[in-house]
Amino acid sequence: MGTYAITGAAGGIGAATRALLEADGHEVIGIDLAGTDIAADLSSPAGRAAAAAAVGERTGRLDGVVPCAGLNGIPSVDAGLLTAVNYFGTVQLLAELRPLLAVAESSAVVLISSFATTTQPLTAMELVDACLSGDEDAARALGGQLGPFVAYPSTKTAICRWMRTVGMGEDWIGAGIRMNAVAPGVTETQMVAEVRADEAIGQFLDQIPIPLGRTAQAEEVAQAIVWLLGASSSYVVGSVLFVDGGTDALVRPDGYPTPMG
Ligand code: NAD
Repeated sequence: MGTYAITGAAGGIGAATRALLEADGHEVIGIDLAGTDIAADLSSPAGRAAAAAAVGERTGRLDGVVPCAGLNGIPSVDAGLLTAVNYFGTVQLLAELRPLLAVAESSAVVLISSFATTTQPLTAMELVDACLSGDEDAARALGGQLGPFVAYPSTKTAICRWMRTVGMGEDWIGAGIRMNAVAPGVTETQMVAEVRADEAIGQFLDQIPIPLGRTAQAEEVAQAIVWLLGASSSYVVGSVLFVDGGTDALVRPDGYPTPMG
């Protein structure tokens, strides 16, 4: 049985992933602002370092990490904070936990992107680049200027770009740490409840076209995450798995293939 760390574990997709792993007999260390094993604020470098240190006090090895913590892109959310949590709260925490992941002969990371990366026309590549540059203050400032509608898909794109560059290097796949991402569609969690309640954009949520004809339950996304964590996905590396009821395919029928050149 393995040991896994999950951020955003107090609710939604993180809690559903925890439940599936524990049902299979694995040990899970949850991290969130409150309501789980380790209380930490992943919006700051100090909070991430404290979270990683607390994980290290509980285990000398990790078989997988799922950085689920995130903020949504509604108008009331501070887009600088969103940038810090969604991108840096993912990649800096992973960097801090990397030594524990490298202990296991093979381990896995499943990043949480979003169908918003391909189905919302608002991604700003300048913010993606600012995130990837690693300058958190600059990225926070730019995210704050661009606002939450733009910062959300941009940070979720940056996560995948980070996976497809840094994740393919010696420190990660070269150390046996397999990295993939899921891109959930509309999933019935607290985050979606907040979007639905928003005066400005809530009305548009149920207009998103979903070929399957319904939104997702958190457990349906968690099933995909658990598969990507486990040995039955052993040759899957660097993929973004859309778990969106078909929205990406419907909106972008020519989105595959995207050949070189
Ligand atoms: P959720 O709101 O239920 O869970 C998010 C968790 O992140 C919460 O428990 C929250 O406390 C935690 N969090 C927020 N800020 C934090 C901070 N500073 N430090 C530590 N923890 C913090 O939402 P969810 O839908 O389960 O979201 C999980 C992930 O899935 C997020 O990254 C989200 O962007 C992504 N996602 C969700 C949907 C959806 O429709 N629900 C769609 C695409 C992607």
